[in-house]
Amino acid sequence: MKVNILTLYPDMFPGCLGYSLAGKALADGKWSLNVVDIRDFATDHYKSVDDTPFGGGAGMVMKPEVLDAALTAVYKRGPLYYLSPRGTVFNQKTAEAWTTEEEMTFLCGRFEGIDERILEKWPFQEISIGDCILSGGEPALQVMLDAVIRLLPAVMGNRESMTEESFANGLLEYPQYTKPQVWQGRSVPEVLVSGHHANIRAWRLAQAEELTKTRRPDLWEKYLAQKN
Ligand code: SAH
Repeated sequence: MKVNILTLYPDMFPGCLGYSLAGKALADGKWSLNVVDIRDFATDHYKSVDDTPFGGGAGMVMKPEVLDAALTAVYKRGPLYYLSPRGTVFNQKTAEAWTTEEEMTFLCGRFEGIDERILEKWPFQEISIGDCILSGGEPALQVMLDAVIRLLPAVMGNRESMTEESFANGLLEYPQYTKPQVWQGRSVPEVLVSGHHANIRAWRLAQAEELTKTRRPDLWEKYLAQKN
């Protein structure tokens, strides 16, 4: 997967994505990053990328001609996304869908956002990290790409842990325990050390269902509907 990123802060990448699983996969060429500095496409003496909003109000808006020049230079094919609080909210389904893309391009906004005409002219989809306002699209994009990269077939070593995880089957994950078996007087649930695989599976499913029911009634409703 090739990822093109248009940003005013190219030094923020790879950021979190340079570490651990994603970082190793990047070093191994299992995905690649093309980070483009939007400011390189500014044409005036001051390299301006933003200007005051028509109609007044606080803040600045990213200039259309600069963004258009950057997009013309970078965007060739594949999905084109603008990171935006008014976009569709990213989730595990989105992450799974993105694993099949060969090339994706992302535009990170700053200030009050970008001139609306850029969204009219280019085939953008808008994607949000959730109902909060960030100061820029970069941290949201790192979260999204982290979720996608770990699912890439070339990256995910243990396929089983992928289907067992929270959201994969519509449920939150069951609780996990590791050694020591007794820690500060607390024992791990007996069934997990029984060696009885069917019982372990049943216990985990019951725990996952209980957690989902109490913590995420919205997910629980969906799970029940799809089960019946
Ligand atoms: N004035 C805008 C917010 C601009 S925040 C509004 O009220 O809707 C500046 C930039 O941060 C945006 O252009 C966008 O690229 C990014 N951003 C902010 N919140 C985000 C979110 N929830 N998801 C994705 N990107 C976000």
